[in-house]
Amino acid sequence: MIRKTVSFTRRAANVFFHLLTHCNLRCRHCYINPDQHGENTLDIDTINHWLALFADRHPASNLILLGGEPTLHPDLAQAVKSARGLGYASVTIDTNGYLFHNILDRVTPDELDFFSFSLDGPRPEINDPLRGAGCFDACTKGIAAAKARGFAISLIYTVSRANIDHLHHMPALVQQMGVDRFFIQVIGVRGQWTEDAEHRETLAQVDRETWLEVVPRVAEEAARRGIPTIFPKVFLGPDETFECAGMVADNYFIFPNGRVYRCPLCEDYPLHSFEIVDNRLVDTPRINETDLFPLTIPEGCVMNRIIQPRNLPDAHDGPPPYKIACCMLKEEITP
Ligand code: SF4
Ligand code: SF4
Repeated sequence: MIRKTVSFTRRAANVFFHLLTHCNLRCRHCYINPDQHGENTLDIDTINHWLALFADRHPASNLILLGGEPTLHPDLAQAVKSARGLGYASVTIDTNGYLFHNILDRVTPDELDFFSFSLDGPRPEINDPLRGAGCFDACTKGIAAAKARGFAISLIYTVSRANIDHLHHMPALVQQMGVDRFFIQVIGVRGQWTEDAEHRETLAQVDRETWLEVVPRVAEEAARRGIPTIFPKVFLGPDETFECAGMVADNYFIFPNGRVYRCPLCEDYPLHSFEIVDNRLVDTPRINETDLFPLTIPEGCVMNRIIQPRNLPDAHDGPPPYKIACCMLKEEITP
């Protein structure tokens, strides 16, 4: 097995394109914030224009099509075909598994690199209280149907205090389902999470000791079973180098109201770097997120310091014993 930190690079941009914010589910930790991201669904002409905009700016980018639930978009298949024609290096659809509009009949495994499914528990009793009644069955049936058609499958498990104790059951399940790539994600402190005061504690991020004890071990077990596994680094040792992806990589998070962010932690605020106006990408007036990226603080990520300081070490004299990594810094374990 090979374990490595995936360094940031400007060689390949990543374009995360939210085609709509509407969804059939109401996950407790949903990161969509309609007040900030709008409630409209982009028409296919606009989608094609915006895809072309980023294909021109960064040829051979990786494209991730998202919502809301992107398969609710009636022209999702057309968006995939357009992206292929524009030369995107890879195209992924992130779905909750309901696979609306017969999407499996309307795209082919040649056109799509991955269907990426989200499941937050190894059983309905764990997953469904977080994502919705019946969701576990719908998602696992969706995975089986996509697999039967020859699509490559990735699966995302978002870790919080509510489900960390069940993560160790996932390697056997992803192997049994024939998943090709396993992502462990850390719960985001944004969107619906900030609204759900009643469940905020149970849905909170796990503490550093628990994260470091559980997550790498489960990732190794999944890799041992033959599945490449990726998880966020989250914590850096005092000697590890901190880098802000906003400074050293090209990631774009596009929302249907035209906002374009470089940092997902900023998405709850009007801090976006760009806006798409008349199908052109224009800089937003300052102050915006790009003013935050160069701020160097001993604790690592400055946005983390602002929105979730509870994961920082207790204040004491001298340098902190650990830093918070950029939320986009990943570890990868390959079999
Ligand atoms: S997290 Fe995804 S699947 Fe869940 S409600 Fe939000 S958009 Fe829908
Ligand atoms: S998460 Fe932190 S380190 Fe990463 S891009 Fe945002 S501000 Fe920079």
